[in-house]
Amino acid sequence: MRNPYLFLLLTILVISCRKEPPTQPTPPTSSAVFTFGSSAGVCNTTVSGVYVSGTSLDVSHNVIVQVNVTSPGNYSVITSTISGIQFSTSGTFTSAGTQSIILRGAGTPTNPGTFSFLFTEGSSACSFDLTINNAVPGVLADNDHMLFGNPSNAVMIVDSFSNYLMRKTYYATSYSRDRGIPNWVSWHLYSPDLGSTPRQDDFRPDNTLPAGWYQVPEFAYSGSGFDRGHNTPSGDRTSRVAANSSTFLMTNMIPQAPVLNQQTWAILEDSLRRLVNAGFELYIIMGSYGNGGTGNLGFATTIDGGRVAVPASVWKIAVVIPNGNNDTSRVNTSTRVIAVNIPNTNSVSSNWKNYRVSTDAIETATGYDLLNRLPAAVQTILEARVDNL
Ligand code: MN
Ligand code: MN
Repeated sequence: MRNPYLFLLLTILVISCRKEPPTQPTPPTSSAVFTFGSSAGVCNTTVSGVYVSGTSLDVSHNVIVQVNVTSPGNYSVITSTISGIQFSTSGTFTSAGTQSIILRGAGTPTNPGTFSFLFTEGSSACSFDLTINNAVPGVLADNDHMLFGNPSNAVMIVDSFSNYLMRKTYYATSYSRDRGIPNWVSWHLYSPDLGSTPRQDDFRPDNTLPAGWYQVPEFAYSGSGFDRGHNTPSGDRTSRVAANSSTFLMTNMIPQAPVLNQQTWAILEDSLRRLVNAGFELYIIMGSYGNGGTGNLGFATTIDGGRVAVPASVWKIAVVIPNGNNDTSRVNTSTRVIAVNIPNTNSVSSNWKNYRVSTDAIETATGYDLLNRLPAAVQTILEARVDNL
């Protein structure tokens, strides 16, 4: 016999179960496990928006990133901050599999240029490039330290440790973490840079290097037989204390043979400043390459316990144009370019003119493309010529 009460109870249970809303998945409280990209570490990004120096980002500035979720949960992704802007997002993956997240941009771009933004999740890394345009589209501002180019295509990402771009107020540089010296330093020089500020002599480590990088200390060159040779000279930055002081960062130094530094190079620097006093503005790049120089204590390939490389050769190029505006358009096939390449030894002549070479010769020695923002046809002519004035 059936129990009518039990039947009724079951009926009620079935009906009430049917009426219950579907169970909501409880939001995971743990972190998601995911990687960027679909295969072989290749990540997939789509950048949206037009980026203009001085114009703050809005909802149109975002980056879609493909992710591979192996375990659902919460996520948070944030990029490096470059030129004043950063991209980030956070949320929850409710399922595994390939899906997309949207990183939103924030901030106001400070410097025009093309930059790589890096972000990581565990051991998975991804990056995207974007170009911040000058307020005048496609044009770097006159007097930009890199107006005529980025010789080694240096970028501001930590991964680029041997060719790391640092855009400072008073110069720009490609720095090598493992050599402990710049590859090159590039700066604009004109009469407003030359004032009466005394030499600050405040040699110091550069604390703007990425976290964890060796910061060459003030006294790293002591007892090495080599000078702390400025790339951007103290004498080119005498308009104010901050300008002069900026040249004493150790990221602006190379171990330079004292005779080369104090004689040949000092006279070259002074000759270039004389051109400024004569009504010219200059775009200058100094660099060094190779291993091993000869200072007061003889030959060495490194100093500071192997942490600072002693370059074999030191070079400089200077593009000389009359004072004026629209500098790029004023460079033509007859523009004077002074280029020198000098061994890093004490046995050099004090006459820098003995060491003049073509810009092409420096390009061959270094693998760089100097002046690469000038039209190719102009580069071809200028770079083949050896200054003889
Ligand atoms: Mn060339
Ligand atoms: Mn070139």
